[in-house]
Amino acid sequence: MSNSRRAYHTEDIYTKQDFIKENEDSDFDSFSPYNQQQQQQQREQHQREQFQDGDVPLNPLTQRIPHTAGKIFSNPIKPKINPDLLPSPVDSLASQIQQSDANLNADYILSTLDVHQTSLPSASIPFNCTDNGYSSPNLLRLSTYAIPATNDLARSCQLPLGMVISPFSDRPASQIPQIHSFSNSQSGPPRCTLCRAYVNPSVKFINGGKYWQCNLCSTHNAVDDDYFSALDPHTYTRLDREHRPEFNFGSVDFVLPRPYYALQPPPPIGFESAYTETPRPPTQLSRLFLIDVGLQSRQSGLLHTLSLTIKDALYSSPTPLNTPYVGFITYDSTLHFHDMSAEREVPSLMIVPDTDEPFNPLARGLIVDVNASKHNILSFLASLPTMFRDTNPRGSILGSALTAAMDVLREVGGEVNVFQSQLPTDGLGGLTERDPAPGGTASVSERDRSLYTSASTWWSNLSESLTDAGVGVNMFMFPYKYTDVGTLAALAQYTGGESYFYPKFDPARHALKVRADLTRIATRALGYNASVKIRCSKGFHISQHHGAFLDRSSDLTMGCVSADSCMSALFAHDASSLTKGWGTVAANALQSAKEKDESGGHGQADEVHFQVAVLYTGAEGARKVRVLNTMAKLSDVAATVFRHADVDAGAVLLYKQAAAHVISRPLGSIRDKLIDRSVQVLVAYRKHCAQSNKGGQLILPESYKQFPILTLGMIKSKCLKGGAVASDVRSHAIRQTLSGTPYKLLQAMYPRVHPLHKGVESVPEFIRASYKRLELHGAYLIHNGELAIIWLGNHVDKQIVKEIWNVESKSQIDQRLGVLPDLDTPLSIALRSVIYRASYPNPPSSIPVLIARQDVDPTEIEVGNMLIEDDNNDGMSYVDHICHIHKLINTQLLGETRMADAADAATWRTW
Ligand SMILES: [Zn+2]
Repeated sequence: MSNSRRAYHTEDIYTKQDFIKENEDSDFDSFSPYNQQQQQQQREQHQREQFQDGDVPLNPLTQRIPHTAGKIFSNPIKPKINPDLLPSPVDSLASQIQQSDANLNADYILSTLDVHQTSLPSASIPFNCTDNGYSSPNLLRLSTYAIPATNDLARSCQLPLGMVISPFSDRPASQIPQIHSFSNSQSGPPRCTLCRAYVNPSVKFINGGKYWQCNLCSTHNAVDDDYFSALDPHTYTRLDREHRPEFNFGSVDFVLPRPYYALQPPPPIGFESAYTETPRPPTQLSRLFLIDVGLQSRQSGLLHTLSLTIKDALYSSPTPLNTPYVGFITYDSTLHFHDMSAEREVPSLMIVPDTDEPFNPLARGLIVDVNASKHNILSFLASLPTMFRDTNPRGSILGSALTAAMDVLREVGGEVNVFQSQLPTDGLGGLTERDPAPGGTASVSERDRSLYTSASTWWSNLSESLTDAGVGVNMFMFPYKYTDVGTLAALAQYTGGESYFYPKFDPARHALKVRADLTRIATRALGYNASVKIRCSKGFHISQHHGAFLDRSSDLTMGCVSADSCMSALFAHDASSLTKGWGTVAANALQSAKEKDESGGHGQADEVHFQVAVLYTGAEGARKVRVLNTMAKLSDVAATVFRHADVDAGAVLLYKQAAAHVISRPLGSIRDKLIDRSVQVLVAYRKHCAQSNKGGQLILPESYKQFPILTLGMIKSKCLKGGAVASDVRSHAIRQTLSGTPYKLLQAMYPRVHPLHKGVESVPEFIRASYKRLELHGAYLIHNGELAIIWLGNHVDKQIVKEIWNVESKSQIDQRLGVLPDLDTPLSIALRSVIYRASYPNPPSSIPVLIARQDVDPTEIEVGNMLIEDDNNDGMSYVDHICHIHKLINTQLLGETRMADAADAATWRTW
């Protein structure tokens, strides 16, 4: 196979010979119409390939593909393409993972000084990175490390320009230096007087160290006397540089003084007159658990599961907790406050029946020290499953419970974890079943886009108030039927929290995932009362943000921000660039850099710098700012821009942007826009970097060769795909995409398929995500970061079943189970290690592992949907997708050529 050859080329050129497999007469380069008979023959041939596979040398399956078939590309001039030759993430992933394992065990390696010269490891694997003055791409990853010098060039290249920010990422565990030296000064760390950037390794000290020049806006800032250091006469760096982390590390935490404290939020309506802006002294994080104890929660076994899993998360976690203070409010049609003061021998319960003006009746004892009150917390958790068994509540008053939580945390901020298993119909903000399809099981038409966001202003106002008060909400949802995830997940998103979705909750299937998710929440890096500001070099500005936050003018505000938070930002050339063409700030900078180089000068004028500042209160109770810095080179050559482009970051940027549009634009137009983006990128590459090549060929830039398949993965995702998707499922998928990390999103775009029947050493390998690749005697693990399924072919060897489940035949496997037994067989160990990795950073094995026996289990439909190279999910197969894109490219190029010819003819026309 020529895969290895292509991997070392800077671009992939698919020649006619590469594509044509059987029919040597197919004319791939042209699009002349066939006659009707040929069209019919081609369509029949296509059907045979898709469903019978009789003539296809891939593994024959007698059964029809068990999933929602998609659009068949009906263009009659489609040539036969060998799918093996199309680029896919599996090409390099296995070797990259192997490399990553080796690196993680050794002292790595990738220096952030090199990110501009080398191609980065995939964002879907963990890799170590030493911070040599710029932030690790695990925290701050640009979509290209060669930025077009002008807006014209940026428009010509069509590549997404932006960054993906995971400010608290712990993959792999990163040590961010904490700088305390400014916490006592009134002014905090030195900042640029003009653009307010924080001092960082790229600022330059001048005038013997009396001034520093801002790397973003070039302003000269005076150095305070107590911060002064003389300069080394040879390197012009500060003599104390080695002892100052802010000049050595691209990512640092500055501990901040009082002027940086958050302000107390305005009081509720009616009490405004007493309000003055008071700074809020930072305190250790308080975490509230809001538990729906209605009938649904009791009957589904949720309360029993929560009783065990919250206990495990608080008291059996291998890593230290990120918060020492917790409190519990339960609710059904009334509110229950639990007093767990340490001095009490047993917890006590106060019931508040007033759901319209809820308040906290406990003067103290609701929020308690997790260790000092351990006996009461354990006692409460032990009785939780049975505590309310004699009540007969009507409805669920989540809105009132959240208002009470707001009342509790108003003056300190913190985090609220909601566990909801039904539609909150009563109390404040009571919701109705607004999905026109009962149970939300049918497809939602385009006119119902409002189902994906808050049902009323009451809920959007609540998220604003919570965010203002520095409170983030994580929403755990366990629905049996329509629960208005659109409203609930939006609340989590706008407060900076996350949503977790366990549809048709079943303890056997979900309990381990709930435990893993709760343990993760209780131990991960976390800040609250946060806001984010992104700054960039002169000549550029941030044009859009996407993620989980409240977008307030230039700042992004969040109740909480964690190791699993990820946002994206797009940047663009300033308006002056738009009007002045080549004579832009950036281009002038590049020109002056070149002149300096010629004259032996050393400058950073050909660099674009970015600084992300996250102001937050650490869970341990200190006001801090996390400053992330990175840089990219300017370039005036399109080929350089393409060479240094990063498709992982680019795809994540576009995916988040597309998810943000679902609530305001028709799904079909979003999918078309994504396909159009693929076409525009490839046309741009063709026109500006590969003009000498023969017309008609499909040419993919090496750095972006996976772009078409990633785009296909996006348009087949639950977030964007056509067809029947329950509104609750889609709402959850939208929020997951907006706040998801690259690691999660890339797995979702291209699910991973591992063969389990080819020997233990083959288990970590990948095969392409297509039903045609599955063998009847085979067993495969298929996972997408959210869900794992083991597919067993009809003729699978009993030994494999025995080694994974310890049963004699596949009919004895319990289909309800969501977890694999811990067996000592080599296959079980290898398999669980792959699942462990897929769950990262949330092990042990938080992904439910389901079983799909061929022609037996309904889960096979989900397997089919995850095999995105096939035609499914209301979308084309990968081969058809590539043909479709290729056709659009040729049509566009042909159109442009004709227009140019026409223009030429007009110029030379004689009268
Ligand atoms: Zn500045």
